[in-house]
Amino acid sequence: MSTAVFPGTFDPITNGHIDIAQRAAALFDHLVVAVYAHPIKTLLFTPDERLKLAQEVFKDWPNVTVETYDGLTVDMARKKGAKAIIRGLRVVGDFEFEFQMALMNRTLAPEVESVCLLTTKEYYFLSSSIVKEVAKLNGNISELVPPHVVTALDEKIRELGEEAEDRIKIITMRD
Ligand code: ADP
Repeated sequence: MSTAVFPGTFDPITNGHIDIAQRAAALFDHLVVAVYAHPIKTLLFTPDERLKLAQEVFKDWPNVTVETYDGLTVDMARKKGAKAIIRGLRVVGDFEFEFQMALMNRTLAPEVESVCLLTTKEYYFLSSSIVKEVAKLNGNISELVPPHVVTALDEKIRELGEEAEDRIKIITMRD
């Protein structure tokens, strides 16, 4: 059985992520959507919230499971018996970052291949950061994320009030 892992922060999961997961799930027998619990960046949602939002998306997908992880992605991939790490490519800036990451991952685990899938044109400019920013400004994000994520974003932004601002700053397109 061929397994791949799709690691990311998923803060929160967007239709861009879902598109990549859907296409990866068609290429491998089993896809593990792996939510990186504690990246070095300020996030809006807790690891458990990000996990649950993603689990809701994939609950009826027969060959996709969702879990959180910490530590090196290659270690998690090895533990899962994965032969590939899936990443998505949008703008040119993504390429540089993913290239560097893939080379490092190959150095650490030569048996795990990095597979980059190109974004679908509708999602070219879609990132979790831009979704959070638009949600904070009360813009319509219903085309960009599933309905339960729209609700979760509304609730979280309301709950955090002023603090939400600091937790959703756009730093780069990559976030
Ligand atoms: P990370 O912090 O690991 O980059 P993200 O949740 O931001 O986590 O993204 C996870 C993966 O999904 C990355 O490979 C990213 O390039 C990809 N991705 C995010 N949004 C899109 C999109 N709109 N189209 C294609 N790939 C995307």
